[in-house]
Amino acid sequence: MKAALKTAKGEFEVTDVERPAIPHPDWVLARVRVAGICGTDLRHWKQEEPQLACKIMGHELAGEIVEVGEAVTNVKPGDRVVIETLLGDDTCDWCRVQQYNLCPNLYKVRMETVSRAFAEYVIAPSKKCYKLPGHVSFEEATLLDTFSVGMHGIQLSGIKLNDKVVVIGAGCIGLGQLQLAKACGADVMVTDIVDPALQLAKELGADAVVNTKTEDGRKKVLEFTDNRGADIVFECAGGSAMPMTLSEAVSFARIGGKVVIVGGFEKDQKALELDWSHIQMSEISLIPSASYSFWGIYPEMQMCLDLLAKGKLNARKLITHSFPIDDINKAFDTARKKEETNAVFVALNI
Ligand SMILES: [Zn+2]
Repeated sequence: MKAALKTAKGEFEVTDVERPAIPHPDWVLARVRVAGICGTDLRHWKQEEPQLACKIMGHELAGEIVEVGEAVTNVKPGDRVVIETLLGDDTCDWCRVQQYNLCPNLYKVRMETVSRAFAEYVIAPSKKCYKLPGHVSFEEATLLDTFSVGMHGIQLSGIKLNDKVVVIGAGCIGLGQLQLAKACGADVMVTDIVDPALQLAKELGADAVVNTKTEDGRKKVLEFTDNRGADIVFECAGGSAMPMTLSEAVSFARIGGKVVIVGGFEKDQKALELDWSHIQMSEISLIPSASYSFWGIYPEMQMCLDLLAKGKLNARKLITHSFPIDDINKAFDTARKKEETNAVFVALNI
């Protein structure tokens, strides 16, 4: 099968590799149709990481079931599915209660199995396959991983009707967070430093947008919240922006408010300066959110699929670019240079 393998220098080489075989009776083989490029993937782009050389990456995917193991009952060949790639070791205390996003072996297990979307075929446990209704396209379904990350942040935040919410960062994650917060009945302000991204936030229902490069973010938040500050701030920018955006998030929160950390940290970000005295005296809660899993009895990805299918989440507007897998390097460049290309979600057709 065709697959994009990571090179030691952090680019990709499209080549032929052996097709994976179903390893357990409750697993499936699927033909990947669309895979997405996410912020986590971009952090490895053009980084010299010899340990990733010759590996297949990619963890946002939708496709068709081709073959099922003998114990599989929930899907059959021909079914269109989105595949959840958060797979733990199924043996630890956290996996036991479906909090596999916290599994200590999560990264290792998923990298060796289902997190291999940049290829024609992938194997996965059947329980990680969610059937797509006919009107949900593969491309749209590929965004369900992103939406699920936002869903987990929403659940941890305890958001309520009429809450005043600020979302920092109008990339894929932030625009998903915005839509979910709106669906919960909150008033939502979105901040970013790129105007076209803010324009998209407006089109997706933001009640207010602020370019924090050119405007005073805190002043705008106070105006938006009757001088109190936000009930909940979702940090969704992450990466190299984090030292600035996390401190901004704290300054946007009201006394007794919450900051939910959805964006990812760079590996070497060990110490970040924050106004700790203010955090303590104002009892601002910092809530870290890691990927997604189940909330109560429901898989968070299924919840997002339901919302997408009912039209309460818009994925189509976020898909700005599509490339064939052969152009994966071009696709990554486009996603990386988003200030030039206005890329939000870049899809790979496989
Ligand atoms: Zn585990």
